[in-house]
Amino acid sequence: MSLKCTICKSSKPVFKRFYSGEILCEKCFSKTFIKRVVRTISHYNMLHFNDKIGVAVSGGKDSLTLLHILYKIEKRFPHSQLLAITIDEGIKGYREESLKIVIDTCKKLGIKHMISSFKEAYGASLDEMIEISQEKKIYISPCTLCGILRRHLLFHVAKNLNLDVLATAHTLDDIVQTYFLNMLRGDINIFRKVSDEKPKLITPFRLTPEKEVAFYAYLKGYYLQHAICKYAYSSARNFVRNFLNQYEANYPGALFTALHTFEKVEINKIRENKKEKCIICGEKSSRKICRVCEILSKLDLKPNF
Ligand code: SF4
Ligand code: ZN
Repeated sequence: MSLKCTICKSSKPVFKRFYSGEILCEKCFSKTFIKRVVRTISHYNMLHFNDKIGVAVSGGKDSLTLLHILYKIEKRFPHSQLLAITIDEGIKGYREESLKIVIDTCKKLGIKHMISSFKEAYGASLDEMIEISQEKKIYISPCTLCGILRRHLLFHVAKNLNLDVLATAHTLDDIVQTYFLNMLRGDINIFRKVSDEKPKLITPFRLTPEKEVAFYAYLKGYYLQHAICKYAYSSARNFVRNFLNQYEANYPGALFTALHTFEKVEINKIRENKKEKCIICGEKSSRKICRVCEILSKLDLKPNF
């Protein structure tokens, strides 16, 4: 007897969820995938009917999938608005392809698209910043630089556009990795989840494993990027990702458990309500000088905003 999908009991399964034991056919996988994203949005109270929503879209599988899903959801709410934001860090041989994918997707869906670059915002592209750091013999890993400044610029663009909500495509895997990385770096100001500030940062894939986003993107046939960033090898995240992937393979469901544990800690921290600010830019920071100001001053750069 051939295997059948756990849910519909009739079609051929194409995906196994090891943490739940379900084996799912294409249709049931897609249905439960979307259902979970919608449930996540409502559980964390992420969206309201009249929100102006920005989606950070890099052109990778996660952000393109999020854009498609939010586009579908937003169509049901005529008082809301949706637009896409792409940060061009200035990485030769990498960003060009993904940028084109985002431009084409937004055109096809009729979504307004904003592009903002490191070069315009900070006076240097990521490639140039890395050269400067090497000349000055300052050791900052490209991914640290890229991640901190991308987030900073995204928030700046989102604030300028007066967005209510900024959605990023971080998956369950990304979020748990970030919690671990912050812990290993001694940063207690762990991943900001949902707050009252504008724009509110939301992560609709926070309860969805990365593998499932990838499989959904594959089933939908989204055009995905082939180029790999030349700095990816240097990322500390790779070590944490490999460790967590191995752990999850041996103990399915461990990522969900880790997320719930970190969320409990985070809630307690929010209750403490610590509001410290950077003495240079005045933005919220758990340090005296925030990471953005620290990095830019080391490179002798200043934001143009
Ligand atoms: Fe930026 Fe690192 Fe990702 Fe490259 S791999 S885009 S440098 S975070
Ligand atoms: Zn089925």
